[in-house]
Amino acid sequence: MGSVRTGIGWDSHRLVEGRRLILGGVHLEHSHGLLGHSDADVLTHAVIDALLGAAGLDDIGAHFPDTDAAFKDADSMGLLRDVVARVTGAGFAIDHVDTTVIMERPKLSPHRSAIRASLAAGLGVEAAAVNVKASTGEGLGFVGRGEGVAALAVATLSAS
Ligand code: MG
Repeated sequence: MGSVRTGIGWDSHRLVEGRRLILGGVHLEHSHGLLGHSDADVLTHAVIDALLGAAGLDDIGAHFPDTDAAFKDADSMGLLRDVVARVTGAGFAIDHVDTTVIMERPKLSPHRSAIRASLAAGLGVEAAAVNVKASTGEGLGFVGRGEGVAALAVATLSAS
C-alpha cells in the first residue's frame, strides 16, 4: 500500500528596479522585479522545496547551488522540471500543490489562472491539482514595505 507524504517550501526575494517579475513561470508587468542568482522566481522556488521536502531529497540549494555559474539567470521552470523528474524517479506521484504568494504589489489575482496553468505544466499535473493563493503584508515587514516577495508551498505526494 502506498503512503502519502507532504513537504513545505518557503522562499523570499528582494524587489529591485531593472529586473523582471516572474512568478510561477509567468512574467508580470511591474516597475520592479526579483533579485537573485537565477530568475528569482520565488513561487517556483517554494514549490521546488515543497516537492524535495516531501520526497526527502534535501533542498533547492543542495541541488542548484547559487555559487554555481550554471544557474546564473536560470529559468526556474527548468529547475522545476528537473526536480519533478527526480521526485518521480524516486517513486513518487505528485497529487497536489498548494501555494501562497505574499506580496504587496502588483495584484496577483489577474494572473492567478495563468500561474496555475504554468505551474501545472511544469509539474506535469492538471491545473486542478495546483492552487495559488494571494496574501499581502498589510503594510508590515519587508513585504509590507514593498522590499520583497515571499512564497509558501505545500506539496502532497504519493509513494507507490
Ligand atoms: Mg529563491
